[in-house]
Amino acid sequence: MLTRREFVSCIAAGGAASSIPAVFAASDFDLKAFASELQELVSIDSKTGYEEGVNKIIAIFEERFKFIGWTVTLHSCPGRGNALIATSKPDQNHYDVVLCAHADTVQPVGYAQKYPFVLKGSIAHGAGVGDDKSSLLSVWWICKGLPKTVTEKLNIAVIINPGEESSNPSTLKFFEREGKKTPLALVYEPGRGEVKGGGFVKVRKGSTRLNVRFHGKAAHSGNNPQDGRNAIYAMALAIPKITAIQSKYPGVTINGNTTKGGTAVNTIAAEAEVTFDFRFTDDRIRDQVVSEIRALCDKGFMDGVRSELVINRLGNALPETEKSRKLMAIVDQAAKQLGQPEPQWLAVGGASDGNKLAAQGAAVVCAMGVVSGNLHNPENEWTDLSTVRSRIDLSRKVLELIAQGK
Ligand SMILES: [Zn+2]
Repeated sequence: MLTRREFVSCIAAGGAASSIPAVFAASDFDLKAFASELQELVSIDSKTGYEEGVNKIIAIFEERFKFIGWTVTLHSCPGRGNALIATSKPDQNHYDVVLCAHADTVQPVGYAQKYPFVLKGSIAHGAGVGDDKSSLLSVWWICKGLPKTVTEKLNIAVIINPGEESSNPSTLKFFEREGKKTPLALVYEPGRGEVKGGGFVKVRKGSTRLNVRFHGKAAHSGNNPQDGRNAIYAMALAIPKITAIQSKYPGVTINGNTTKGGTAVNTIAAEAEVTFDFRFTDDRIRDQVVSEIRALCDKGFMDGVRSELVINRLGNALPETEKSRKLMAIVDQAAKQLGQPEPQWLAVGGASDGNKLAAQGAAVVCAMGVVSGNLHNPENEWTDLSTVRSRIDLSRKVLELIAQGK
């Protein structure tokens, strides 16, 4: 990592820093140019679903990847904008490795102007600067500097999602198709700023909403309460029983966070519903938990009240697997060869595109991007530009090792 002074002198000199290992030297690296390209991306509103803005970002990268001779196609994702696929070879049916980032942000339209790009020392602020604009930009810098020995051996696919922050059926379908085409994926979510030197992510929990509905029988609670069957009472019995399942599975959380039920205070409640936020680290465990909950619901929690489990969509975890451990080992080896600190691998709660790629069978590592923090907080979100070069070098080295192993 550059010190602030080195960074400032680097900017003043218009690029070339001195303390970077010569191995696979990113001799093309120009921090001033990187910062100015980042400023351009931050100046464009690209809130998820604001297709006009997202498509502007996509068009910038479409032009750049075409310029270096990659095969570029755009795929319309209605409601989110264009997804981009750029491959180092013309084949877009099979990839050796995917580099994935996203063009959208959570910041509302207008925030690009309200929270513009500001550079303080090596730290850049601005709406969406860390999630995911600096990391998205780093993918371009990684690819444009790759030597032919790597691009001729590997078919590298860059995938830019126009709607990572809030998936819809079109982006889910897109990832279902693309995830099947690659054995390996590097995901450029920001490097984790809570770890000194910047952490990497090996596990992201999957999350799913589980609705449990209760159907009882209405009656006047003064005249004939004995004829009613209280659905809210059954729900109250069910919540602790369902929640208790989490204690059997490390990493699983089940929280009943919203409820509804009843029609009037003098009427035995005929209907009730609780929605659980359910998180898990492995899809097989997800299925076991769901079947346990279903069995409880089938058995029922109270005489005369029927309960049913309703699930709209099962999410996927990004799990640690034998395959992903091999990919992590390549990243570790690349860091070692570059003289960088040993990567710290984290298991975190929130999902990313890595979850979708892993669901299709790819080995995934995540948070390969530029070290950033205070994500989604427009005033305080930051990205550390002194980490850009080491992260670019690391990814190039990883791709070189993957090419060597092919
Ligand atoms: Zn992100």
